[in-house]
Amino acid sequence: MSDRSPREDVAEVLVSEQEIQEVLDDLAQRVTSDYADKNPLVVGVLTGAFVFLADLVRRLDFPLEVDFVAAASYGDGTVAGKLELTKDVNRDPNQRHVLLVDDILDTARTLSTLTELFVERGAASVRACCLLDKPSRRAVDFNADYVGLEIPDLFVVGYGLDYAYGYRNLPFIGVLRAESYRT
Ligand code: 5GP
Ligand code: MG
Repeated sequence: MSDRSPREDVAEVLVSEQEIQEVLDDLAQRVTSDYADKNPLVVGVLTGAFVFLADLVRRLDFPLEVDFVAAASYGDGTVAGKLELTKDVNRDPNQRHVLLVDDILDTARTLSTLTELFVERGAASVRACCLLDKPSRRAVDFNADYVGLEIPDLFVVGYGLDYAYGYRNLPFIGVLRAESYRT
């Protein structure tokens, strides 16, 4: 077990703490103008979304409820893997305005499947909000309604995003040094 700082494994800071704050302010403004009178059910996708959701909802000064799902995709990665909910929401989404919140939109399989699920459950509306988006990685035709920042096709960590369960506590979004990946 190493006790050195996770920062020492970072090759490059892609999105600084300051830049994240600015992105959050902008997202919060857009979400506020659309949801201030809707008492939305804000559903975070665990685990990656926990930091982003916590920072986002503290900028939303109107009634809302927070809930979480945890989703695991399985399959060999080449076929559209099935999505399994390992944790479901506690609140009933029927007739609710659901805002899905995730850290990053990649192939979009997770959020497109979750969107369909909440529509089937009778939500009044379902939209998605992501801090980061890698549009070049899309496997299904889906886009988030609120996107903080588009980034290139890089594996990023920090601000909730992990590599091998680590690095979620970095306050910025970074790219790891090649030596930091376990083989
Ligand atoms: P997808 O859009 O492919 O269904 O899945 C998105 C999920 O894959 C995200 O919620 C996140 O957990 C994971 N993911 C995608 N890209 C990255 C990345 O660059 N870094 C990390 N740590 N996780 C990622
Ligand atoms: Mg995730």
